[in-house]
Amino acid sequence: MDIKENLDRIKAELPEGVRLVAVSKTHPAEMLQEAYDAGQRLFGENKVQEMTAKSRLLPQDIEWHFIGHVQRNKIHLMAPFVSVIQGVDSFGSLVEIDRQAARFSRHITCYLQLHIALEDTKFGFSPDECTAMLEKGDWKNLEHITIGGLMGMATNTDDEAQVLAEFRRLRNLFDTYKAKYFSDYPEFNTVSAGMSGDYRLAVSAGSNMVRIGSSIFGERFYGTNR
Ligand SMILES: *Cc1c(COP(=O)(O)O)cnc(C)c1O
Repeated sequence: MDIKENLDRIKAELPEGVRLVAVSKTHPAEMLQEAYDAGQRLFGENKVQEMTAKSRLLPQDIEWHFIGHVQRNKIHLMAPFVSVIQGVDSFGSLVEIDRQAARFSRHITCYLQLHIALEDTKFGFSPDECTAMLEKGDWKNLEHITIGGLMGMATNTDDEAQVLAEFRRLRNLFDTYKAKYFSDYPEFNTVSAGMSGDYRLAVSAGSNMVRIGSSIFGERFYGTNR
């Protein structure tokens, strides 16, 4: 695996304006450093302790995105350094992120995770739940967070039409919310969708942030406890 070669190939393929999150979960800090040396600054991790440990070993100008399920009792661990928490799926989590960001005099961007896939194992707001939360408006009082966009994962299937329809749905929700709740919020600007197996479809459906792991770093090997 030549990390630089992989990054260069993927970046050359992404249209202007589409950001690339290098998903480095399970890989050692040396591999992230290699990507960093190739110019990558945006990394995604899905375990809070793992991300925290790596953040201590790596350069300070990395933009860390947490892309895992948010456990409220771990937010304080990443609050000192995380840039974006993707995958927020409850108002309670937003409140806790806001509280922890305030404690560290910081501002944290959050993406709302929408459940767009057929599988019911994936986390996220249903569109109705998300709309209800936005309609209620309490989020506007949270001064240490910014809602920066939406995040979603498509069904894990070879049916491209299905996957494309799910990504389009996410983009449509983004456009609807932008017009209805965020027209005065330029920071609400991101649709985070697409992984190694489906990022081309996601981009064609209007995603402007892809989260790519294995196509950059190779396969992941998990220990016996996973
Ligand atoms: C692991 C992961 C990815 C990247 O997956 P690959 O298939 O390795 O590209 C993207 N998003 C989330 C939320 C992940 O957990």
